[in-house]
Amino acid sequence: MAFDKKPWAEPYRIKVVEPLKTTTREHRLAAIRNAGWNTFLLHADDVYIDLLTDSGTNAMSDGQWSRMMVGDEAYAGSRSFYRLEEVCRKYYGYRYIMPTHQGRGAENLLSKCMIRPGQYVAGNMYFTTTRQHQELAGGTFVDVIIDEANNSFSDYPFKGNIDLGKYERLIHEKGAENIAYITVGAPVNMAGGQPVSMENMRAVSELSHRHGIKVVLDATRNIENAYFIQQREAGYADKSIEEINREFCSYSDAATVSAKKDLYVNIGGLVMCNDSELYDKLRSLVVVYEGMPTYGGLAGRDMEAMAEGLIEAVQDDMIASRVRQVEYFGNLLHEAGIPIVTPIGGHGVFLDAKRFYDHLPQNEFPAQKLAGDLYVESGVRGMERGIVSAGRNKQTGDHYYPELELVRLTVPRRVYTQAHFDVAAYYIIEMYNNRHNAHGLRMVYEPEFLRFFQARFEEI
Ligand SMILES: *Cc1c(COP(=O)(O)O)cnc(C)c1O
Repeated sequence: MAFDKKPWAEPYRIKVVEPLKTTTREHRLAAIRNAGWNTFLLHADDVYIDLLTDSGTNAMSDGQWSRMMVGDEAYAGSRSFYRLEEVCRKYYGYRYIMPTHQGRGAENLLSKCMIRPGQYVAGNMYFTTTRQHQELAGGTFVDVIIDEANNSFSDYPFKGNIDLGKYERLIHEKGAENIAYITVGAPVNMAGGQPVSMENMRAVSELSHRHGIKVVLDATRNIENAYFIQQREAGYADKSIEEINREFCSYSDAATVSAKKDLYVNIGGLVMCNDSELYDKLRSLVVVYEGMPTYGGLAGRDMEAMAEGLIEAVQDDMIASRVRQVEYFGNLLHEAGIPIVTPIGGHGVFLDAKRFYDHLPQNEFPAQKLAGDLYVESGVRGMERGIVSAGRNKQTGDHYYPELELVRLTVPRRVYTQAHFDVAAYYIIEMYNNRHNAHGLRMVYEPEFLRFFQARFEEI
């Protein structure tokens, strides 16, 4: 066999394995009907390769497991908190660090502390839980992402960037005092894991601060973003992930993190800031929702695993192997002509359901159905990121009709091998060849909040 470029391999080997279960097509068809065609409602035991999410589904290292044994479970002033604080200060650079039970715990606290009812919050495409907390705090989210983000097959390298013109118009239209803050997520989950450039982040920071507007980073996937900057942005090829990440954070005033992503743990979150007044507000509220500021809803052992996970996460070879595994999977599909979001994102491969099921209208939930059909045909579980996830406009009550109607196939960190992705790609390619046999869905149950988690559907 000849190689056209130098191969790469994971910077770790496997010590513990977890057997997988296979099922029949009849079993899976019954299971998805029972689950109301919602992959969130399946029993995980009925799933073969689980690409539902990369959230909390990571494999921890022997280093993390061993740190769990030395976790300090003191109710207040835990040694494990001080270790986490030290590691987060070193790698993210913020002055104040507070753990939370997961990302949305941090979003809840920050939204409540920073938004006055009636204010606007700008951001680069919404994220489900982030926008929900902003709305519950009385804010209105305004999307100021660049237009390329909504084009599933653009090759623009930084499709997560903020459109500075859109943002500036919003400031002039609403007045800077009516904008609570701008939230920058990087890479942008809902746009298919698309990164934000350092140049854009610097400009957003400069424009915001000139108008007295705070910049809040959703730093959940920051390490993946740092990798893309290193690979794609001029002047960063020779900088380490650690340096790039710290520089990126330095342009913001505060950050929320779901540690269930970059930090290689199964549970945890962070809220961080530089401003002592904001910290005081967060500290008084955290005891209502999470716990003491030195544990924030986590066990001491969880904080140890997070600290160790962050140290591993910023290693250049570790993040390179994570993103390149996603790229490997994406390339198998792209080269076979399957419509996916390009460039391939940092955490998963996104099937473009509008082009895959081009015979189904958006109000028959093509991405929801494609996720269900993929499960039935292969036992591979993905999730909808389209009209169901977008929810309804709270003023008009209508569905939001997002440009992107996607099925997200997320890659858990350090969990599957390339052979699993060969199998998943094989079934997707087979389904694509028979795609016009598929029928749409109708929604028969709709929860009030974050409906995609629990909505139910029937086949038309
Ligand atoms: C997962 C995620 C969140 C929410 O975090 P949870 O830990 O699931 O509560 C927020 N923002 C982004 C970008 C995420 O991926």
